[in-house]
Parts: sequence; structure tokens; C-alpha cells
Amino acid sequence: MRILFFSAVIILFSLSLCISAAMADSVETYTVGATDLNVRSSPSHDAPIIGKLQKGDQIRVFEENTFGWVKTFYGGQEAWIASQYLSTKSNATAISGQEKQITIIEDGVRVRTGPGTENSVIKHVPRNSQYTMVGNSNDWGEILLEDGSTGWVATWLTDLNSESTPVEKQSKNITSLTGYNIVIDPGHGGEDPGSIGMNNIFEKDVIMSTANAVAQKLRDAGATVIMTRNGDYYVPLQKRIQISNAYNTHAFISLHYNAHPISNVNGIETHYTGEGSYTLAREVHAALERNTALINRGVKQSGFYVISENNIPSILVELGFITNPDELEYIQTQEYENNVANGIVDGIRHYFN
Ligand SMILES: [Zn+2]
Repeated sequence: MRILFFSAVIILFSLSLCISAAMADSVETYTVGATDLNVRSSPSHDAPIIGKLQKGDQIRVFEENTFGWVKTFYGGQEAWIASQYLSTKSNATAISGQEKQITIIEDGVRVRTGPGTENSVIKHVPRNSQYTMVGNSNDWGEILLEDGSTGWVATWLTDLNSESTPVEKQSKNITSLTGYNIVIDPGHGGEDPGSIGMNNIFEKDVIMSTANAVAQKLRDAGATVIMTRNGDYYVPLQKRIQISNAYNTHAFISLHYNAHPISNVNGIETHYTGEGSYTLAREVHAALERNTALINRGVKQSGFYVISENNIPSILVELGFITNPDELEYIQTQEYENNVANGIVDGIRHYFN
């Protein structure tokens, strides 16, 4: 009986060793050692490319096959990467002992493939959802998702931020836009269609879609966004100014699309009125030029009501011509919206730095 008991202990003990060894091997973190590394839908160089990874990105490997491919998850789907471009176990696994529960504190927070807004979005998660954080990099936390894969969220959109000391918060405010209230003014609306473009497309509609993308990116960056309109209705110009001046706001950005009787006229222009708004205009315009492929029509001083009557740094951006067929087609792509949104966030960051 004693011998039997003893063997049972040994069996149990070795079993638990096997299990922990298997668990440790089952998910490993690797670091990408190449730029623009292809992520494919199956383990073959002929398989469709479903994404790209950049040098320094970290991935969780769930399986390794004998032909040099590793399995991970990308955008919520199974994905394969050639293992020759990966370096083994980063020290991100070292923090696995300090896994932390975090709570999302904003609505629709974006979970991305890597630590930074330049990485693509896997999904949106609601306020109050909770995740286990398994890694971190600067202001970004790597969280464990429902399908076993991981994604990255900005930690300033989680309850982690509130634990940081005031000094850390101060430095975060510079790179993130936490603490800044930005007014986004989608031009026109309701009975005022704005410019009318090719195919009877109204400026008020195209700009609303762009403005929503800009607002989302600003929120992702930590800013509080005040929209002068949230749908297709008429808001008088005086009301837009009132909205801007009623809050403790830091910048006002009016978004428009342009029109011209000659259909090949194209490009982006940024307007300001007072000298106090010039730097904002210059920074946002330069960032838009960096982020979009449109012709640069320059920074211009003008007297548009919404910017001339505003108490805070205010600009009006004309994001391209909806009377130009090529430009209109590009303007309506998600890629363009994304580029504009990145440009405006980038420009505002430069301005506040
Ligand atoms: Zn307009």
C-alpha cells in the first residue's frame, strides 16, 4: 500500500512536470527581426499575405511546423510567419509572472497588432471590458484576447494610467493628447450641403465621414473631442463658435472639401486668421502633406467666420476637391480617411510639443 502510494506520487509529480513543460512551450513570444515581414494565411510562401510586421514587433507563437513556419493570430485570424526572420523568446515573456488585470476606460478603444497607432486595428473593445495584460512597451499594453491571441491597447485608455505618478502623467501628456480638448467642426450639414461634387456628392456627407475618422484617432491618442455636429443637420456658424468657446478647448479644426469649376484643380490647403493660429496651421498642414499624397496648395491667411471669431487657435482645412474625379475617388477611400486622421493627430501633437 505504501509502495503504491509512493508510485502514485511519482506519477503525479512527473505528470505535472510534463504539463508545465508543455504549457511553457505552447505559447512563446518572438521578436520580429525584419522590416515589412509578411504575415500569410497559411504556412507557404505562395499563401496570400494578410498583413505586415515591422522590426521589433512581438508575436505570440502558438505552433511551429517543421518547414520553418510559425503559427500566430493576426487580426483575429490564424496566420503564419517564416520563422527565419524571428528572434527567439524576447524578454517580454519574463514579465509573464507579473500579469495584470486591466480595465478599458473609454468606449470603442482600438486593439492593434503592435504598440503604436501606426499598427492596424484588430478590433474595438467597449468601456469597462477587462483583459489580462501580458506585456508592455512604452505607453502600450499587450492584452490577451478571447481567441488566445494578443493585441495592443494604449495604456492611457485603461485604468493603468490612473496608477501612474503625476510626473509620469506629465510626460505622457506630451506624446499622448490626454488633457487636451479639441473641437472638430465638420463643415456644413442639413439644408447646407456645402460644395457639390462629381456624381452629385455633397461635401457635408463626405466631410462627416472624414471628421468621424479624425475624431476617433484623436480619442485614441487621448484627446477629448468636441464635435460641432454629429450628424446631418444644420448648425449655424455662430453656434459652432459658441460650442468652441463654451468649453475649455485648446484647438479648433474646421474640416471641409473644396470645389472648383475646373475639374482638374486639386490639392489640400489650410487656412488661419490670426497670428496665434499660424503655428497650428503650419504644423497640421505639414503633417497632412507627410501623410497624404495630395498636392500642397499651401497655408493661407483668410477671414472665414468660424476661424476668425474663435478665441482659441483655429484653422480651416480644405482636404481636397470633390469636383476633381480622381481626387474624389481617393477622398472616399478608407485609406485616405486614415491618412488624414493620422496627419491631423500628428500635426496637433507637433503643435502641442
Ligand atoms: Zn466647405
